[in-house]
Amino acid sequence: MTTADKLAHYVLPTYSQFPVAPVRGEGTLLWDGDGKRYLDFCSGLATCTLGHGENSLSRAISKQAGELIHCCNLYQIDQQAELARCLVEECLQLPGRVFFSNSGAESNDGLIKLARRFGHARPDIEGRARYEVITFHQSFHGRTLGGIAATGQDKVKEGFDPLLPGFRHLELNDLDSLAATIQPETCAILLEPIQGEGGIHLATREFLEGIGELCRDHDLLLLLDEVQCGLGRTGEMAGWRTIAPDLVPDAVSWAKGLGGGFPIGAFWISERIMANDKPLFSLMGTGSHGSTFGGNPLACTAGLTVLREVIDQELPQRALQHETSIRETIASWQHPALTEVRGKGLLLGVGLNFKAPEGEAPSIHLSRELANAGLLAPPAGPDIVRLMPPLTVSAAEIDEALEIFRQTLDRVST
Ligand SMILES: *Cc1c(COP(=O)(O)O)cnc(C)c1O
Repeated sequence: MTTADKLAHYVLPTYSQFPVAPVRGEGTLLWDGDGKRYLDFCSGLATCTLGHGENSLSRAISKQAGELIHCCNLYQIDQQAELARCLVEECLQLPGRVFFSNSGAESNDGLIKLARRFGHARPDIEGRARYEVITFHQSFHGRTLGGIAATGQDKVKEGFDPLLPGFRHLELNDLDSLAATIQPETCAILLEPIQGEGGIHLATREFLEGIGELCRDHDLLLLLDEVQCGLGRTGEMAGWRTIAPDLVPDAVSWAKGLGGGFPIGAFWISERIMANDKPLFSLMGTGSHGSTFGGNPLACTAGLTVLREVIDQELPQRALQHETSIRETIASWQHPALTEVRGKGLLLGVGLNFKAPEGEAPSIHLSRELANAGLLAPPAGPDIVRLMPPLTVSAAEIDEALEIFRQTLDRVST
């Protein structure tokens, strides 16, 4: 049986897959079992921050695996303590506390639980617990029951009702409608500063700063989902600072790029003092939350190694330089089948405008043809193909990828 046959027989078909089966990698490059070479501008969905193969991350994981893989949170884990310190002191530079999970959806569930606790601690004027979390259309917050309830896309919710109640989705960047619809039961606003899966849509600076003000005025929590845009990919360790440098959130979630491909998620809760003189993070005290695997020595070693490299090699700044050159190259094509380039740093979406055969979405069609031609660049929605290589990508690799992109686009769009 081939890989594809076994997958078809034994694995739930929750993903529609491309016919690509990588077995080995080196930096930005992947190879399949037949030796076909790919430039990886997918990075395992914005995850393989440092690229593939033998590198500081694979060495650190191997070494740690030989010393201690797991011991659980009943005991003290030094790598967890150090990774939390690095996230607080070096990445955010905002005081608070971190909880470690294993994925992005789990981290967002943690933010939702915080919002519920906050709503109990700070009820409405009638003394009723507040519970509503406002999120935005085209958002993506993960596939748990909490995550799909929070996500502003119908397709992830189909057939799973009754959903977790207490969510409302509004238009991104429409501050007036947001201000007009805050209700007594509202307790938090959750958003991706740069929406990833929903098609690379950026919150504007005015919108983020306006949300910050609304949260102060209405005693709401400002929750940022930085699972995809955080930790350097979009040009800052705190992703929202590429848009609104002075915004101060109450809690932030991470996953994807944090482990460089090793599964780890985390969320941070601010130390800001609430009306009862207690810090916000005290709402999530002993026994309030947990994870068997979360924060284990192996995962935290991966996270620490990734963050050390990203910070020390100044990869966020490099991501911004690469963005500039990618935008210049694509603009110089003046290609009639392209609409725009959206995004920040190395989280970019290229807008497509051509007719694909047999009613297929242009993004899926182009992604498949790009893969055939040796470039992995995943779709996001029907009209966007994403460019999100490892942050260690070289300028020469970007040039090669864009040349494949242009030639393939020429072929499929005429
Ligand atoms: C991918 C993603 C998630 C979900 O992360 P998982 O690790 O797949 O659970 C949540 N939020 C955003 C913004 C994401 O991009």
